[in-house]
Amino acid sequence: MRILIIGGGVCGLSTYLALCKHLPKNQNHSLVIYEAHDLAPYVKAVADNQDGHPPEPTGKAAQNETNIAAPGKVDDEQPAAFTPEIIGSAIGIMYNGLKVLSRIASPGPSGLTESQAPDIQSGRNAGFSELMADVLRAGHPITTWNMSAARGWKLIEVSMRPSSMRSKSTKDSDQLQRGVTGIMISRQEFWQTLLTEVVRVATSDYGWGGVGQVLKQGRVTQVDWAEQDLDSSTAASTQSEVVFVTFEDGRCEAADLVIGADGVRSTVRKAMFERWQSPTDKMSKPSISRRAEVPDYISPRYEGLKTGKMGIVFGANGFFGYGYSSSLHRDFPGRPTLDNVPSLVEPGTTAVWWSTFASTVENPYPVSDPQQNGKRPRPWDFDRIAALAALLQRHRGWNNPAIQAILDYLESRPEAVEGFYPTWTAPLLPTWHIGPVLLVGDASHALQPSSGQGTSQALEDAEALAICLSHYYRPLSSPVTDDEVWRMQTEKALKSFEKVRMPRVREQYDRSQRMGGMKGNMSVVTEMMMYGAVKLMGILGRLFGGDKALDGLLAYDLPSEVLKVLEVEEAADRNS
Ligand SMILES: Cc1cc2nc3c(=O)[nH]c(=O)nc-3n(C[C@H](O)[C@H](O)[C@H](O)COP(=O)(O)OP(=O)(O)OC[C@H]3O[C@@H](n4cnc5c(N)ncnc54)[C@H](O)[C@@H]3O)c2cc1C
Repeated sequence: MRILIIGGGVCGLSTYLALCKHLPKNQNHSLVIYEAHDLAPYVKAVADNQDGHPPEPTGKAAQNETNIAAPGKVDDEQPAAFTPEIIGSAIGIMYNGLKVLSRIASPGPSGLTESQAPDIQSGRNAGFSELMADVLRAGHPITTWNMSAARGWKLIEVSMRPSSMRSKSTKDSDQLQRGVTGIMISRQEFWQTLLTEVVRVATSDYGWGGVGQVLKQGRVTQVDWAEQDLDSSTAASTQSEVVFVTFEDGRCEAADLVIGADGVRSTVRKAMFERWQSPTDKMSKPSISRRAEVPDYISPRYEGLKTGKMGIVFGANGFFGYGYSSSLHRDFPGRPTLDNVPSLVEPGTTAVWWSTFASTVENPYPVSDPQQNGKRPRPWDFDRIAALAALLQRHRGWNNPAIQAILDYLESRPEAVEGFYPTWTAPLLPTWHIGPVLLVGDASHALQPSSGQGTSQALEDAEALAICLSHYYRPLSSPVTDDEVWRMQTEKALKSFEKVRMPRVREQYDRSQRMGGMKGNMSVVTEMMMYGAVKLMGILGRLFGGDKALDGLLAYDLPSEVLKVLEVEEAADRNS
């Protein structure tokens, strides 16, 4: 099978890793990642780094050195915010995402076989993954969300540890010392650790092809199918064919399977939905809604914020989050694993914050000069100075020393506004695949960034897809099996993938919508009711052994859930 992954962001890179892990090695597959931006400088930096680990964080200065535009100095073609390296500032990877990472990581250079690969659920071989070690070195472990009110009241502490890992007899403070259940990490560093792993894998026997064959530059402009019948009630193709992918420079490539991991403004998604007129017309034309959030790198010691904690502060006019995103000791002795790294480590020099608020218009801070010296404003342009003024007004009255320290910092360093990013979310889609073209990650479900699940869900997509494809491909053999059988098996795998992933993502979507709903401008009564609801959540959680929904999110056993769906699908196939 010739498989093209469009987009070399978090989801594209991890999909490659998961496929290398799961696809039967005796089959003749070709896996290529096409990324719109030139990854050569990053690949070279990885290759030049003799110890085989990601290069030290480059920061914005180095981004300029490698000709990646810094925010505010973007070219007209593509906003800097969409380059794989610098979109966003920091991301949270929760326990469910970390578990996927540890499973899709390569066995490492120590000559381990595939069956000896790390598995954090059992703790087996967890010490041997270079990818996990790099992630743990780069980020800051998060064990707890501290929720409080803008009026200065403490509300609840939410443990990021699944309840099965909490012991009632042990004091919380003791438990926090053991193991890592969540990570806050610079988005740039996480992307670099994944890229480093892809380079490691592509150059080993474990992967397919060398780096040059796997990572290619190319901006996709169109995706075409040969004529086929589309059943508009299910959106499944009744006949699937080879897919043709066209690039900006006019090149065209044929593929048996195209995986669109090209982010929230996905070209692959556009091509899919242009072809298919769903009965629910509104859903078939997904609109991108814009929200204004303003994260940034800053490096004060947040007053009152202990290590290992994220602060989430609720107020009548929005909410505000903050936490550390790196650790002081980047070098742990030996090989750090999720189990042996202490979860309480000194914070490093970077941290992240964000402010979420309600807006009745798509862009609350339009650029003041709409013509921009003759240039039309782009959808991602906004007036950063106006955004800063509104931010100060919104949160200055909040009784929280950490928030006030952040606002002081921003006021004293106006250039920090360059680090502000608007963020986008997208409504849920009615289908994620049409024929042999599939959407994954933000291309199919851009969740609210404050849900803390965007990256973890992208990682879950990668692993679930690889398990589904390998399940249906395993009985086949390249020269013997007819092309049509490969296509039928691909269709079954993609259907199973949707069956397991769509309800799971829907849960996270609903959860993030509920959380987002708490950001409106409220009366005092509604504000008090919100605090009461948050407190009640904490009390019920303690009484009944943890927030059930959160537990279902964190302790999710993805491989078992996928296998359950595959069994049901196989049984249905046999009976039909
Ligand atoms: C400010 C911000 C904060 C966030 N915070 C969190 C958080 O705390 N926790 C969390 O889990 N998630 C968070 N997220 C979301 C998270 O970053 C994404 O959900 C995750 O990175 C999904 O990755 P992706 O690979 O699907 O998309 P992307 O990372 O957007 O990658 C898409 C890739 O495709 C490439 N591409 C685009 N178009 C084309 C084309 N036509 N041809 C070829 N290549 C193309 C792009 O250059 C890019 O490299 C945040 C996002 C933002 C913006």
